[in-house]
Amino acid sequence: MTKIAVKFWGTRGSIPTPGPRTVKYGGNTPCVSVTFDKEKHIIFDAGSGIRELGNHLIKTQKKIMSHIFLTHFHWDHIQGLPFFAPAFCADNRFSIYGCENQKTKLSKVLSDQMESSYFPVPLKKLGAILTFNPLTEGPYFIDDFTVKALSLNHPGNTLGYLITHRNKTIGYLTDNEFVSGSIKKPKTNHISCDDYNLKIIHAIQGAELVIFDAQYTPEEYQNKKGWGHSHYEDVLTVAMAAEIKKCFLFHHDPSHTDADLDKIGIRCLEIIKRRGGRMDCIVAQEGLEIEL
Ligand SMILES: [Zn+2]
Repeated sequence: MTKIAVKFWGTRGSIPTPGPRTVKYGGNTPCVSVTFDKEKHIIFDAGSGIRELGNHLIKTQKKIMSHIFLTHFHWDHIQGLPFFAPAFCADNRFSIYGCENQKTKLSKVLSDQMESSYFPVPLKKLGAILTFNPLTEGPYFIDDFTVKALSLNHPGNTLGYLITHRNKTIGYLTDNEFVSGSIKKPKTNHISCDDYNLKIIHAIQGAELVIFDAQYTPEEYQNKKGWGHSHYEDVLTVAMAAEIKKCFLFHHDPSHTDADLDKIGIRCLEIIKRRGGRMDCIVAQEGLEIEL
């Protein structure tokens, strides 16, 4: 039986938000680690949370090998990479995945943020072996995993990921805007991908755990349409239609305090109960670790 451990190292969207009002849910930008059977290691995104993950890996492992899946290159998802200490050690090896196009090569966009105007050490001087692997939407077989990359609705190219290992699937769908008002449960596996929400429902159907962008409240969303983020009611609708087991709300708005996020968690549980659902819904906290 595969044991999966998922740990949140950064849950905040857009910009780090340290301070007394974000102690419970955290102020670091996106980074999540997934460990399968205490051996194989995956990292989603390299926001500021990856710094503390790096320190943890150095303390607990001699030779570090990991797959790093980047959703996209907005700063909150790559800004921690120059501070990821294991990347400075020669014995370590990291395979980095993400989308690219002619304008934004994966290796170039990461090295550009470490160019001398911005950072003292260039990417090519890092000691670890780094490989860059551009992905587009579709399935891939990497190591022992099936990885399904999904194009998400967000300004610029953005990928979400579904990782399946020995019949357990977990999803990471952040920086994603669902389209309100067009969600219905698919009746067959042969659904049209024209409807974005149905495409996602179909892809994540039955997953053990999915981490969703839920940056806004429904009220806040009214003035943020087209910004590439979702409100929690749309997230719940999609997650419940897909019959996933655990739904994590993630990429918290920088303006949301711990008290705001507590309220959001309670409102979500009320909505699920009112709709007759049994899905677990958890507001992601920095430092939280889940075992499946
Ligand atoms: Zn973001």
